[in-house]
Amino acid sequence: TMEFTDRVTRVEPSATLAISALATELENEGADIVDLSVGEPDFPTPENIVEAGKDAMDAGHTGYTTSAGILELREAIVDKLAADGLEHTTDEVIVTPGAKQALYEIVQSLVGEGDEVVLLDPAWVSYEAMVKMAGGDLTRVDLSDSDFQLEPALDDLADAVSDETELLIVNSPSNPTGAVYSDEALEGVRDLAVEHDVTVISDEIYKEITYGVEPTSLGTFDGMADRTITVNGFSKAYSMTGWRLGYFAGPEELIDQAGKLHSHSVSSAVNFVQHAGIEALENTDTAVEQMVEAFEERRDLVIDLLDDHGVDVAEPQGAFYMMLPVDDDDQEWCEGAIEDAHVATVPGSAFGTPGYARISYAASEERLEEGIERLAEEDYL
Ligand code: PLP
Repeated sequence: TMEFTDRVTRVEPSATLAISALATELENEGADIVDLSVGEPDFPTPENIVEAGKDAMDAGHTGYTTSAGILELREAIVDKLAADGLEHTTDEVIVTPGAKQALYEIVQSLVGEGDEVVLLDPAWVSYEAMVKMAGGDLTRVDLSDSDFQLEPALDDLADAVSDETELLIVNSPSNPTGAVYSDEALEGVRDLAVEHDVTVISDEIYKEITYGVEPTSLGTFDGMADRTITVNGFSKAYSMTGWRLGYFAGPEELIDQAGKLHSHSVSSAVNFVQHAGIEALENTDTAVEQMVEAFEERRDLVIDLLDDHGVDVAEPQGAFYMMLPVDDDDQEWCEGAIEDAHVATVPGSAFGTPGYARISYAASEERLEEGIERLAEEDYL
């Protein structure tokens, strides 16, 4: 018999798996499931990016690359970061197969057995798993009483952060709430990080997807440059989930350590995918704008439809998710909603916040209307 490490056995299988297994089972029986559970844009990758990937393959860019990623892409990333007010050199950037791998490498580099990590709840599901795999302990700050905004909860964050805190993870715009944290909130984060000498991950993967607000990068605040690691990726803004491309930028000492993990595990991101990434960063403003416009219209549509049924939600200002208040037993609610209404959502408890279900509105208006209607008909609203 095999003996497994604590590292893996202490991690729970994702709570979203139960929902997708149920969805698949019902679909196999012929049911038409309105899937509002997925965390990916429903648009194809913009054509010019696909062409750039094909061209790169044709041009023979099919071998290993420098572990940190091809220089031209790291230069394009440095330019993108500079446009966000973040100053980095190409030596301070590692290109990864997805932002998830970036986060994994950072957490593995900074968090050891018993180290304390602070999360803002609800938080994206994989942060918890990554911290646990590294042996870290979690302290969670609940933002659900403040419409998922951070500013009103800064006192709670101050209670959670201490000299013992190794790492704080901030994700704005947030998955699963769509909240974009204000500059005042981020200044509050800065004050605590500086006071207690805490390293901060700023996961900015939804930064390009916002509605009428401009999120500020955490690393631009005074005192944050040498303690912030900025994570971003191509999956969401450019609808490139399956290409697997992301990156992180931070102080060189962190990059040197994480670079060892990177080179001994993935070696590098895929060569021709990196070439497509240059095209994404340099030539896709219009395509991104069009997708963001569509997401905004869908957000408004879902909020209106829910309002028609007397349901109030915290209005998301970014990403393509919102949290629907449901029964205390959100797992049961989600299972019921999929069985009875054939609508798939993700239980809030997967994100550390029971009593909610996450709706992804990265679906067509027609499917969104159908989904809300079915939930209402089956008394789930
Ligand atoms: N961070 C957040 C908050 C996410 O929602 C996701 C994807 O769902 C990721 C990181 C990882 O994205 P990827 O690995 O596709 O770049």
